[in-house]
Amino acid sequence: METEKTREELEVALKQSKIESQAQSEFLSMITHQLRTPLSGIKWTFKMLLDGDLGSFSDEQKQIISKGYESNERMLGLLNEVIIANQNQSWDFQYDMQTTDVEKLVERIITEYLETARAHDVHLVFHRPEQTSPMVMADPDKIAIILQNLLENAIKYSNEEGSVTVNLIPTKDTLAISISDEGIGIPAEAQARIFGKFFRADNAKELKKEGTGLGLFTARRIAEKHGGTLTFESEAGQGTTFFVQLPIHNS
Ligand code: ADP
Repeated sequence: METEKTREELEVALKQSKIESQAQSEFLSMITHQLRTPLSGIKWTFKMLLDGDLGSFSDEQKQIISKGYESNERMLGLLNEVIIANQNQSWDFQYDMQTTDVEKLVERIITEYLETARAHDVHLVFHRPEQTSPMVMADPDKIAIILQNLLENAIKYSNEEGSVTVNLIPTKDTLAISISDEGIGIPAEAQARIFGKFFRADNAKELKKEGTGLGLFTARRIAEKHGGTLTFESEAGQGTTFFVQLPIHNS
């Protein structure tokens, strides 16, 4: 009888905690989305100024406007990471699995990052496979999040004039995407913790003050939800390669 009661109490407590956690998640979601709107407004204001739509500026003035634009971009980036991590934790996060052309998806995301790479003086190269890549059962929006996180990191942690190379490697059962950079690398002592929530290696913190340590955590969770993996090889000062492996949809 008493055991019954304890179980009932536990169930009530669990339900309560789920409700609270859901409420926190909804609150965070509301704040982050509210913040995104004015930041997007600022982005387009800076962009119009930089593009000369409102008249021309001296080089010095342009440099200052660029700094404002970049800071705002970083803020938008951080906010996006928090939004994604928060969605991932919520109870009702849905995956919309469908037959996906990963090669096309990779191409689209790379195109989106060409400008960022150029701004960082990084060469972004896509090695297209010789044969057509197989289709993969995946949620394309979620795979895009993995690719965005990995590309953003590869560019962010590269040295000037470095290269970031993306390869597609089909095997019998999987389609692997590798993203290699020649940047700062991940020090040996940090490697075991790199997928941990909020973890950032010291060399990364030194180079870039901003960062959440949520990108890789989120990316790995998404890869695993697809029955795939996210792994890496890296040496401090030499560069890093991340591998996303997704099971092939054989039908
Ligand atoms: P953030 O980039 O916001 O710090 P991430 O979760 O994306 O967070 O990455 C976690 C940490 O992994 C980074 O802080 C950095 O230490 C390391 N890292 C990720 N990608 C790279 C890379 N391409 N080169 C070197 N270090 C990296």
